[in-house]
Amino acid sequence: MSGIFEKHYDYLLNYLEGAIQKDHLSPSIILEGSDVLTQYALALEIARRLNCIEDGNKDCRCRNCNWIRENKHPAVNTVSKIDNKTDDKMTVISEEQVKNILDTLINPSDFHRVFIFCDAQIKPPTAIEEKRLNHFRVLGFNTPQEDTEKGTWYPSGLNFGCFGDTAANSMLKSIEEPPERVTFIFLTENRNDLISTVISRSQTFIVPAFEREEYDLSFFSQVLNNYPSFSYSEAIPFSQALLKYQKDSGYTIFYILDCMQQYIKELIKSNLNNEPFVKKGYRDIEKLEEFKKMSDAFIKDNVIYENLSLYLAGK
Ligand SMILES: [Zn+2]
Repeated sequence: MSGIFEKHYDYLLNYLEGAIQKDHLSPSIILEGSDVLTQYALALEIARRLNCIEDGNKDCRCRNCNWIRENKHPAVNTVSKIDNKTDDKMTVISEEQVKNILDTLINPSDFHRVFIFCDAQIKPPTAIEEKRLNHFRVLGFNTPQEDTEKGTWYPSGLNFGCFGDTAANSMLKSIEEPPERVTFIFLTENRNDLISTVISRSQTFIVPAFEREEYDLSFFSQVLNNYPSFSYSEAIPFSQALLKYQKDSGYTIFYILDCMQQYIKELIKSNLNNEPFVKKGYRDIEKLEEFKKMSDAFIKDNVIYENLSLYLAGK
């Protein structure tokens, strides 16, 4: 079994492996980057190396390694608004949920317990997500929820919306003085999506997206180079350009909207000090999700592009 780990993340896993062997691994780890599914795979791999009863080898088939790959290990838990819920607040990781999880730490365990905190939803994956899922499956891993009727389990980064101050704060003591052999792993697109008290108590590792080139951003760097400024007179030509681009490139509308989201994300990264820009950027990224849903609802592509262009023009 080989795959993205050896090719792209050897340095990171070797570093973590060294820390595991010297018993220096921080009990609280933040993974940061745009590809949260790969972060999730890395988190499972860390959990596997921490729990392997053989030599930790990547092909190991010991009971612990198998359980973790199947995502059925009792000591390796995904915590999201839809995973490991102890209440019915399916929109957030709640304080109650966190408390219940921390309560379980009172009991001793033969395993090294790993809690992977992320956001997640069940949905039809986009083209890029589909590719990432294939890389994930090649590693032999399962998601925490397989065979759902409504789509595929897919993780995204934590943010203040799904993991608010109260829930995050209720973890501080456990992060600071964790019981032995417990590791918390937080998955984020940007560490600043977590409260500063969690960041300061954790060790952060950047996980670069290895298939960044799979996003074709050249089109948007031409037609949206003045973003976020966008005038009404630009709206109709913009929507026509999008439609023509879709026809010429053969991309799906989902992929094009994915690329536009990615383009805005990259702009946000280089404008992090400009708060209005960052806010507008995130709002537009969210809005683009709604346009993707319109496509799911069989609304015609030209209508979606027109609405999107008018939205950008503030109409
Ligand atoms: Zn093993």
